[in-house]
Amino acid sequence: MKLLAIREQTIPLSAPMRNASVSYDAMTASALCVISDCLVDGQPVVGFAFDSIGRYGKGGLLRDRFIPRLLAADASLLLDSSGLIDPSACVAVLMQNEKEGGHGERPGAVGLIEAALWDLRAKLEGKPLWRVLAQQCGRPLTASGAVFSVYGSCGHFRPGRGAAELDGLAAEVAAARAAGFTTVKVKIGGANLEDDVARARAAIDAAAGGRIAVDVNGKLDPLIEVRWLEAMGALGVAWVEEPASPLDYQRLARIAAMSPIPVATGENLFSWDDARNLLRYGGLRPDRDLIQVDISLSYGIGEYLRILESFESAGWSRRAMVPHAGHLFAAHAVAGLGLGMHESASDLSLAFGGLWDGTEITESCAKASEAPGVGFEFKSRLMQWLRPLGESLSP
Ligand SMILES: [Mg+2]
Repeated sequence: MKLLAIREQTIPLSAPMRNASVSYDAMTASALCVISDCLVDGQPVVGFAFDSIGRYGKGGLLRDRFIPRLLAADASLLLDSSGLIDPSACVAVLMQNEKEGGHGERPGAVGLIEAALWDLRAKLEGKPLWRVLAQQCGRPLTASGAVFSVYGSCGHFRPGRGAAELDGLAAEVAAARAAGFTTVKVKIGGANLEDDVARARAAIDAAAGGRIAVDVNGKLDPLIEVRWLEAMGALGVAWVEEPASPLDYQRLARIAAMSPIPVATGENLFSWDDARNLLRYGGLRPDRDLIQVDISLSYGIGEYLRILESFESAGWSRRAMVPHAGHLFAAHAVAGLGLGMHESASDLSLAFGGLWDGTEITESCAKASEAPGVGFEFKSRLMQWLRPLGESLSP
């Protein structure tokens, strides 16, 4: 088989919301399609991927460097012994002539291609991706399918709400709870203790017995750090997310040593190198803390398996691995690799919100899709952008 074309489209998200670090109204994301020469019912089999949200689209890197490099490679270098596309072999080609370290935005571009190649590979095998990943890793499969844990992610700041901000936050949490999420994560600011306590309290009240986690996106003011952690502990939040800047391992270790509640971080580390530094210097606790490395922003499944191996060798459980992003590709990884939880944007009006159309959430659990590949074809709001990329054979 051969890859005939790879196409990227940078999509404006235009979502009127923000966290403590970034706004999403000007944020973009990449939609990607790889087109193979394999035909089913006369149509080429294609693989799709859609970016993680929060790091902008990667069209420049993809078009200028990585897509041409992969398409120029000898086709035999991209296949495994069965003659199917081998995503790990493709990453090796993509990384030719690339220096070590300084990972930057490169891992997200490579990871996006890798994700689309996994979708293609699983479709060619006629299986859902989670089954392909489980088989590749020697994990047991059951005929009845896979049920995985999922938490709802919502409660961003909405500048347009003004004085109704807390009421709006509570309504989002209540909606997530009604949709079946018993664990819900909301954004808080990290600059003012009273504001953050009020925001966490409003979410906890709206969760009606469900668990609330808080995400401060690396913006916790060091001057309020001690009292803030005590307050979040007293409120009994499920975890505090990114209390330190992502690469400040010394501060993270200090926070972990005094935090009465679990600490979650890792979504802004994009490589095994960086995850290893987190493991070595972050002071995190294997019995309670959570690792949120984003798979498709971090070179993809192959790199993530290396990260898993390092953490497991250091005594961590896969249950502590909770990938960032909330996209369908990560859902397959959680289900197929036996990871702790999947993140899902609970607002279904967002194009990237939810799982496959109609998927039910019960007690924060969902059943993995049995559609071949990732199943983007069963998420209509994303397919509006992905489908056109695969329609014409002229690159
Ligand atoms: Mg986060």
